[in-house]
Parts: sequence; C-alpha cells; structure tokens
Amino acid sequence: MTPLFNLINDVNPTKTQWALKVRVVRLYEVPAYDTVYVSFSLEFVCHDKEGERIHASIKQSLINTFKPLLKEGAVYVIRHFIVGVNNLKYKTTGHKYKINFMTKTHIYESGDDRWYLSCKRCPKKVQCVGKRFYSEKCDRHESSGNPRFKIQVTMIDSTGTVYFLMWDRECTQLLGKTCAIVRDGIDSKKKGLDIPTEVESLVDRKILFKVQVKMENLDGHNDVFTVMRLTDDNNIISKYIDSNVENQESDLLSKIEKNDDEGNKISSSNDKVTTPSKTRINSVI
Ligand SMILES: [Zn+2]
Repeated sequence: MTPLFNLINDVNPTKTQWALKVRVVRLYEVPAYDTVYVSFSLEFVCHDKEGERIHASIKQSLINTFKPLLKEGAVYVIRHFIVGVNNLKYKTTGHKYKINFMTKTHIYESGDDRWYLSCKRCPKKVQCVGKRFYSEKCDRHESSGNPRFKIQVTMIDSTGTVYFLMWDRECTQLLGKTCAIVRDGIDSKKKGLDIPTEVESLVDRKILFKVQVKMENLDGHNDVFTVMRLTDDNNIISKYIDSNVENQESDLLSKIEKNDDEGNKISSSNDKVTTPSKTRINSVI
C-alpha cells in the first residue's frame, strides 16, 4: 500500500511531489526591519504523526493568501512546496530542510473525518453551539453527543477506482469496536494525524458489500457508493463467487438495487453487475 502522505523525516530537495499531513504547533509573523506594521514573513512549525518537526516559511508577498487559512493546533494537508536548506539563524527544528511556500502551494485543513458526533436520539450529526450540541432533526440541545464512524474506503482493481462510504453500523460490525472505544485508544497528540490501527487493518480484507446505487452514481456525478450491508463471512462470500470464475481470478457477481435520491428503491430487477473478486479495500481515507 502506498501511503497517502509522506513523513517529515523523508522530506528532501530531490523531488517536488511531497504530500504532508501535519499539525501546526507554532505560527508567528516576523516583522520587517523598518516598520512594525508590515510583516516580513509568516513562519510556522509543524509536526507529523511520528512527532517529527519541520519549519515552514511563507514570504511577504504570499502572507495575505495563506495567513487566513492557518491557525495553531489545526491539522493540514500541504502539497506543492519547495524544500530548501534550513538556514534559519535561530532554528526551530533540528530538520536539515525547511518548507518554502510558493504561489501554487496547496493547503487545506484536514479534520479527523473518519467519525462525527451524532445526536443521542437519532444518527444525524449535531452542531456544536457553545458548549452544547444541537440536533436539527430533533430540535433539541444536548450536553453531549455520540461519536459515530463514517469511513470512506477506496477500492481499486484493474478496471478502475470506486469509493465506498461505510456508516457507523457497518464499521462497528467490521471493526468489532464502537467508535468511542477506537477513539479512546488514539494517542491524543496524534488525533487527526494518524489512522487508527483498527481502521488500517481493513486494508486488504476480503469483504462482500451490498451498496446503494443512486442516480447520481449512475450519471457520473458521484463516485462514492454508500454501503448498505457487508459481511466478511467466507461461507457467504463463496456463495457469491462462481468457483470457475474465482479460479480465473475474474468476476464476482453482485446484485444491484437502484435507489432514487430519497433512497427509495426504484427497481430491484435482476440487474447483475460484475465486480472483480480481486477487488479489495485499497486504502482508508
Ligand atoms: Zn436527533
């Protein structure tokens, strides 16, 4: 499995295609020498899931572009930057190199998007209002919420890539643990940076999925399919695999139910599609 993100330890100037997932631990502006009102540069120090640190510099002409996007403590994905020698007079990290932002540097905040906080009475996401949580569906404020899984996995075979979205019930079934328990097991320093080992263990597992196919999936507007049910029971999986086909390592038959946008079943015809049996979970994002 190719990791989605590089490690800070590996960053060097020999290539430009780096992708980092980091937490900004210190963010500060260096004032220009001649005036206190203009900043000379914006600087930050960040660390990755291994705890390794690297310094990043944003030159004066780019401060207005990037400053509104950055805040201390938040987790970001950063791509397209220049790796230069860490020649700072006062070094903030022991790293030999530092990151220099350029106009086309791509940075976005990456929340921990493998879970969400739901209402205690329904599975809908709650909004944080002050110190309380509001469920729009139930029109109620609660003092706490329930953490629930929402995990997207990438499935790749020789014919292409699709994304499956698994909600709380299916994830809990697969992992054998609730979202609250998995989250409690994560080192607080790594929260948002690391994929929990339980979740990472999904990679390469053989699972039979029943997925919902919406119109937007069929017309190409959405390549994320919602998982309705799943099983890793080999007895059941083998019933879906024609033994001859399995030997040829080609196709697994699965039945598709079409749903409209409201999730209503509009056809449960005998449509059968072939999905390669070699399809395995490729990555968890
Ligand atoms: Zn609710």
